[in-house]
Amino acid sequence: MTPRDQQGRRLHDLRISVTDRCSFRCPYCMPKELFGPAFEFIKRQQLLTYEEITRLARIFVELGVEKVRLTGGEPLLRRDLCDLIRWLAAVPGIRDLTLTTNGLLLPKFATDLAAAGLDRVTVSLDSLDEAVFGRMNDVGVGVDKILTGIDSALAAGLTPLKVNAVVQRGVNDHTIVDLARHFHGSGVIVRFIEFMDVGTTNGWRLDTVVPTAEIVERIDRVLPLEPVAANYPGEVAKRHRYRDGGGEIGVIASVTQPFCGGCTRARLSPEGKLFSCLFANTGHDLRAPLRAGDSDEDLRQRLARIWGKRDDRYSEIRSAATAQLPRIEMSYIGG
Ligand code: SAM
Ligand code: SF4
Ligand code: SF4
Repeated sequence: MTPRDQQGRRLHDLRISVTDRCSFRCPYCMPKELFGPAFEFIKRQQLLTYEEITRLARIFVELGVEKVRLTGGEPLLRRDLCDLIRWLAAVPGIRDLTLTTNGLLLPKFATDLAAAGLDRVTVSLDSLDEAVFGRMNDVGVGVDKILTGIDSALAAGLTPLKVNAVVQRGVNDHTIVDLARHFHGSGVIVRFIEFMDVGTTNGWRLDTVVPTAEIVERIDRVLPLEPVAANYPGEVAKRHRYRDGGGEIGVIASVTQPFCGGCTRARLSPEGKLFSCLFANTGHDLRAPLRAGDSDEDLRQRLARIWGKRDDRYSEIRSAATAQLPRIEMSYIGG
């Protein structure tokens, strides 16, 4: 049974945030001033256990989910993550098991992640310019550390590997062509992401968004591009390939060309709340029913009911009024 929401969208992808902690303080996600020593992260006993996550994932698969992505915070900070990956990899019906990471711990974990059954990784890297990247992770991590992480993932076969770069005007937009050039011909797909107004702490302003059309134009001027059809309906990134055969890039136009109509993603928070939209302000608690002894059938019905009522399309109706609404933080729900 695959439920449809109020807009006729099916449930197809599940993003699981395994922690709200992170080793970086990217100002567009976890600004240092707000996520400082006094910030209260979720306590360990409040986190869903790996048994609970796997049980829920199994039920999500019965409702139509085929793709599962682990995220955070920084997912590689969660202890024994390879155990969770091993269990998820054994769930029949998950066709694509992936992870988004800042890349810092990949040299340590890439081989184990692959052995546990992870299919591929997405690594976030906003710029190859040391000064720019230093400002964008705000903890002084150098570019070489992330490039080493990418190499470890490639060597472990976690491919096709994607690199995520959030583009902010006046911050790193002057370095996007270099990033594209670096990975041109390497098989790595760079995805440029429009800076989004997720959460309420990152100081987002519309004039800091570099529209996708401009990103493509700036790269195309140096490395000529042509559009490519989507791999599947509802694909988030718009694909463009290099005319010289050097591979492809993706652009994620969440602000200037919203894609809510094809949004088939459910998001599970570290303590077991289900969010039906990245911009939602409340989630549906699944941990309480899980711990109260609900049967799989009870949980299946609960999830189907939540999905059936879903009517979110925040990016399509973004306005001055919606901007005032409370929203969860990206470091909590994981993008
Ligand atoms: N820590 C991991 C990482 O950085 O890859 C996983 C979690 S992070 C929240 C997931 C993705 O969201 C990253 O690629 C990050 O760049 C992106 N992201 C965070 N804040 C964003 C924002 N305000 N707009 C667009 N993308 C954002
Ligand atoms: Fe951490 Fe990822 Fe957010 Fe940066 S984008 S602060 S690496 S969770
Ligand atoms: Fe999906 Fe919400 Fe993003 Fe629209 S705004 S694409 S519904 S997560």
